[in-house]
Amino acid sequence: MEFETVIGLETHIQLDTQSKIFCGSSTAFGAKPNAHTDPVTLGLPGALPVLNRKAVEAAIMLGIATKCTINERNHFARKHYFYPDLPKGYQISQFEEPICAQGRIEIMVEESQRTIGITRIHMEEDAGKTIHQAAEGKSFVDLNRAGTPLLEIVSEPDLRSPIEAAAYLKSLRQVVRWLGISDGNMEEGSLRCDANVSLRPVGQLTFGTRAEIKNINSFKFVEKALVYEIARQMKLLKNGEEVVQETRLFDSDAGVTRSMRGKEESADYRYFPDPDLPPLYIKESWIQDIKRSMPTLPDQKVNDLITTHGLSLYDAGVLTAEKPYVEYFDKTVDQCKNPRAACNWITTELFGYLKKNSLEFEDSPIDPKRLGRLITLIDQGVISGKIAKSVFEDMTESKKTPDDIIDEKGLKQLSDPEELRTIVREIFAAFPDQLAEFKGGNERLQGFFVGQIMKRTRG
Ligand code: ADP
Ligand code: MG
Repeated sequence: MEFETVIGLETHIQLDTQSKIFCGSSTAFGAKPNAHTDPVTLGLPGALPVLNRKAVEAAIMLGIATKCTINERNHFARKHYFYPDLPKGYQISQFEEPICAQGRIEIMVEESQRTIGITRIHMEEDAGKTIHQAAEGKSFVDLNRAGTPLLEIVSEPDLRSPIEAAAYLKSLRQVVRWLGISDGNMEEGSLRCDANVSLRPVGQLTFGTRAEIKNINSFKFVEKALVYEIARQMKLLKNGEEVVQETRLFDSDAGVTRSMRGKEESADYRYFPDPDLPPLYIKESWIQDIKRSMPTLPDQKVNDLITTHGLSLYDAGVLTAEKPYVEYFDKTVDQCKNPRAACNWITTELFGYLKKNSLEFEDSPIDPKRLGRLITLIDQGVISGKIAKSVFEDMTESKKTPDDIIDEKGLKQLSDPEELRTIVREIFAAFPDQLAEFKGGNERLQGFFVGQIMKRTRG
């Protein structure tokens, strides 16, 4: 029997706000343990939460970007569980009325696009960190992270392979970075996901029983954990056994998923509306203000690049991977009016140079103005494409304009036929024996003469 894979992701992103979601403590990373705490973070009796407007704005932005409905009325709920890094004994989250619902996002796999449904986006607070030091037989609690604003994005079970799951996360990361609401850094924990996965016989409409793999923190691990888990479930089903609905952990060292606990149901959390936080009403005018302040989104930009600049879907995808790339591209095109050449120079020469020298894009030694000018000089026939590459190299080493480099090095392409004819004659005169042989029919000497002329004219 053939099986189909079904995957849905619950993704948490940490927002880049300055202060926490319900109090004024800083969200800065890397401070001394418990430096960023206060009565609300510590869950002291009587401390009252006050909602951070910036966190709500970020949620609305992401909701707009993913074409969700922004719920005019939404509210916060208490989700109860016990853990030492959760001093209140509950996490403030959203349950029945999340801020955003029913959206979608485009993903790109092997140069084709697919749409993945978004079930909901809700706001919540992060927990602190518990650090276990086995050697000392001690555990430590650091509450700096407690209360950092998170958005949880729940996808529909629309993903069909580990590769699609990774592509979905990349799209989500791209959008949050684009909007400037999170750095989306998986390695530092600002983007983490739980992956739900099940199998069903091909053709069956109902879903199979799923397992949920908790807290995956790298793109590589998402794929690895899912590949392992799919193989595990496949084996069970092929042996006529059943998949148990449960929560599993991915052990990245061993490359396996392990059962952690039976699946908790929402009733286990004893959700109820948080009495300390009134329902949140969002005015349409606020949504419109936010919409106006937002940049053109990546999928719109991809369309623009294809329709107005004639780029391929693949190139448009590469240029929109990060907002600074496409901004750089636009400025280069403003200068040279040649989008295809601009795309090629950026994605091959510039990216290649940055990679070879382990530089970040922001640290590019060449700005769009100089690159655009270089392209214009090729288009005008002042220099050849080949010479342009050497000028590009020189441009990475100084702030000189391409025009100055070309002048200083005498790299201008000779296009005047009279001038060229004179040089050819001079070369012929300098090599009478070779000329006689060439005239006698040895055509291989053509290469010799071309070489001599190149040498004389320095290319
Ligand atoms: P819970 O809140 O209990 O984790 P939800 O019903 O909210 O469960 O679903 C969580 C995630 O699991 C969603 O991303 C959803 O798409 C996904 N999901 C639900 N059922 C399945 C299934 N049978 N196989 C794979 N993923 C699933
Ligand atoms: Mg879940």
